[in-house]
Amino acid sequence: MDYEKLADLLFPEIDKTPEDYEAMYPERKGLKEGAITTRLAPSPTGFIHLGNLYGALADERLAHKSGGVCYLRVEDTDEKREVEGAIPVLLDTLSYFGINFDEGACHLGTEGSKPSISDPEAAERGDYGPYWQSERSHIYKACVKKLVREGKAYPCFMTEEEIEELRKYQEANKINPGVWGEYAKHRNLSIEEVKAHLDAGEKPVIRFKSNGDPSKYFKVRDAIRGEISMPENVQDVVILKKNDLPTYHFAHVVDDHLMHTTYVVRGEEWMASVPIHVQLFDAMGWEYPIFCHNTVLMKIDETTGQKRKLSKRKDPELGLSYYKELGYFPEAVREYLMTILNSDYEEWRIANPYKDYNEFNFSADKMSDSGTLFDLNKLNDVSKDVLAKKSAEEIFDFMQNWANEYEPEKAKLLSDNKEMLLKVFDIDRGGEKPRKDLVFAKQIFEFVKYFFDEYFVYESEWPAEVSVEDRKAILDAYAKTYDPADDNSAWFAKVKEIAVSLGYAEKPKDYKKNPESFKGHVGHVSSVIRIAITGRANTPDLWTIQQIMGKEKVIKRVEMAK
Ligand code: GLU
Repeated sequence: MDYEKLADLLFPEIDKTPEDYEAMYPERKGLKEGAITTRLAPSPTGFIHLGNLYGALADERLAHKSGGVCYLRVEDTDEKREVEGAIPVLLDTLSYFGINFDEGACHLGTEGSKPSISDPEAAERGDYGPYWQSERSHIYKACVKKLVREGKAYPCFMTEEEIEELRKYQEANKINPGVWGEYAKHRNLSIEEVKAHLDAGEKPVIRFKSNGDPSKYFKVRDAIRGEISMPENVQDVVILKKNDLPTYHFAHVVDDHLMHTTYVVRGEEWMASVPIHVQLFDAMGWEYPIFCHNTVLMKIDETTGQKRKLSKRKDPELGLSYYKELGYFPEAVREYLMTILNSDYEEWRIANPYKDYNEFNFSADKMSDSGTLFDLNKLNDVSKDVLAKKSAEEIFDFMQNWANEYEPEKAKLLSDNKEMLLKVFDIDRGGEKPRKDLVFAKQIFEFVKYFFDEYFVYESEWPAEVSVEDRKAILDAYAKTYDPADDNSAWFAKVKEIAVSLGYAEKPKDYKKNPESFKGHVGHVSSVIRIAITGRANTPDLWTIQQIMGKEKVIKRVEMAK
């Protein structure tokens, strides 16, 4: 067979070689020794989830910690699955969580819509483009042409029906299914036969001619999993589809080579395809990148108590919009992901509470190689720590932006009450042990909403030790004696006085010792006052809350509860 002729017959319009493209895309200059180049390679299918962010953060950290480059390549070779506008949304979402790319697809000035590829300026930046795979057909074809010319790839005209029949036959005879070895019917078509198919108007796919031996194992390095050993691939996989676009396997090999990716971070579902990829790299005469197959995110199922994959259908927390809508600080989400990405991050954070996370020594070998557990409660704890370090002003500004976007009916209330809220957010903060009760914007609003009359409700039960008459008597006395000029201890002395005058113990322990001598204790009395003013039995320091509310509102609430 004259492979040279076959290559020209199949790709008459292709006059460039892979070497031409290698010359066009030389290695990045000026990177320091050991710099890592990574990429995020999303398919524009529309749903951006926590797993994407998890992977993207690994890409971003590996590259930026080493002084390297992290770029975005769009894997849009499957038109059927493509969702209009998916990439701008992805870019915005990742950028919201603090992940920005140095190169690749972007949407400068094309907010909200798919970047126009006819206007490359607006669709991408960087020297290794196009970064949209659908625009790289000429490059893939040049690489496929080389493989055909060398007898390592061939056109296959098998119809879907033929392939289906083959599969049935193989199944019935317990033969490893697929187009491989002797079952790869079109491996050895003569040039005349190929011509006849083409003349009949048939369009072939191009398959790789595998010379793998399934009894042989090869070894390859995975930065997360160490050295892995796998059997060689025997399948003649499709590398170029009928629409002149490559399959994932071939696009990965060509793009990661020509774009000089050094670490390929991707989901573990791609592990099984590594035997195909190494064969393709070998056939092209190219070095392998370092593979980093990360794990899927798991959770403990509430009903079964078992670990399972996070699911799009069952777990709203898988979608990133969940965190935006509830108003999680992006920094808190990122901080939590860092703790599950690198096993020693949490320890480092405890030792370095105020250091920038950029200073942490992130590395692939500290990533988990089996199902990473995602735990919302843990995220909330991390978020409390992150928010405890924020100023009241930062919390207010974040709340305001969140409300503007997601709860506009609350936006004006927040802006009209800025001064008050700044004081509220400052209660018991600063100092050695700041309060840690702020988690995310929606929860923060719930936490402080009793300051607003329109949201005030009685959430707690009145203490059982206090009768309805006594409640009235307590609140009467309180309304008469409350003076905002009292300091915290003068104020509490008055509460004690009211308690004692109505037959309640001054100290809880006195009541515990002699329960028959008292109706209850001062705690029950102050609980009545607290619930009257805030609707809740548990709040931060009540004296401070009243100082912020002002006398008028305090008295109004006390009167209302009588
Ligand atoms: N487009 C592939 C995906 O979305 C990318 C896998 C990779 O990172 O290589 O799964």
